[in-house]
Amino acid sequence: MELSGQRILVTGGAGFIGSHLCDRLVADNDVITVDRFSNGRRDWIPDEAELVEGDLTDAAVVEEALTPDVDLVVHLAADKAVDSDDPLSQFRLNNTITENLLNRMQAVGVDAIAFASSSTVYGEAPRPTPEDYAPLEPISMYGASKLANESLLSVYAHSYDCTAWIFRFANVVGERLQLGAVVPDFIEKLRADPTELEILGDGRQEKSYLHIEDCLDAMEHIIEETDRPVNTYNLGTRTTTSVRRIADIVSEEMDLDPTYEYTGGDRGWTGDVPKMRLSIEKLSALGWEPAYASDEAVRAATRALLTGEGIED
Ligand code: NAD
Repeated sequence: MELSGQRILVTGGAGFIGSHLCDRLVADNDVITVDRFSNGRRDWIPDEAELVEGDLTDAAVVEEALTPDVDLVVHLAADKAVDSDDPLSQFRLNNTITENLLNRMQAVGVDAIAFASSSTVYGEAPRPTPEDYAPLEPISMYGASKLANESLLSVYAHSYDCTAWIFRFANVVGERLQLGAVVPDFIEKLRADPTELEILGDGRQEKSYLHIEDCLDAMEHIIEETDRPVNTYNLGTRTTTSVRRIADIVSEEMDLDPTYEYTGGDRGWTGDVPKMRLSIEKLSALGWEPAYASDEAVRAATRALLTGEGIED
């Protein structure tokens, strides 16, 4: 699908990824977004985008935003806490909003949806995971909700002649990344105490970090280049970075030399996967490569967060 001249509904457009995506899409498309502002910021939504304020668990809100003239839904809204206090409610919420969107799409004949899934669907895999890696064994309710949502999309795509794009994101980093993610968390902790940094886990957790610009480029590339009923792609980098290395990068960028205090075992929190390595061969075969390696993405994000609009709760 050509991403120009379309009417595009972005769910979660006030959030980190959604607001950057809306900024890009408004140049060549009509953009409408729905957000309930449980995260993100109202002033991150570009003026050119229409806003429906409300909760996507409410079918009336979905009806208002998802009108028959929408060409594409980009579905980013979710409760994304990996260590949610109320995991079952999170599972239900993420499923309900996806169900509401798919039901409404079917009712009004909208036939294209792109969905923000996650590397967490793979669980603890012993090697870099291609998209056809099996078994898929998520270890958090968040990951389980993403996998369930992927299944829902597949059913609708195959049953109602629609196109679904499923993006299994690595950790996306950049300006507007909010607390709860490692880079802004380290910045805030070092601002509070420049001499000592608490690191959750043993610091050896290795993950793929994707720069926000690479993330948006890859999403656009996949939507423009593929049109199977279900198009599932990993969006990540070829390299990984350790949490210890991220602590070094953030400290360097802040011109600090703190001592590190490790708390916990080999993982940061319940549901955290110690090693996340995504194969991006399928994406590479489409002619796309990330511009930033994982540690470069972390460094660029650190600089943007230190000089940008501030860090949100
Ligand atoms: P975010 O929390 O910054 O943005 C999500 C937005 O959705 C927020 O503005 C929030 O207010 C809104 N929202 C949540 N529930 C809603 C509801 N019921 N109704 C209306 N609005 C609602 O998250 P993000 O980092 O931009 O992530 C976007 C998507 O990408 C999420 O689905 C997330 O699970 C997925 N993802 C993100 C990452 C990452 O590293 N940021 C990695 C993997 C997957």
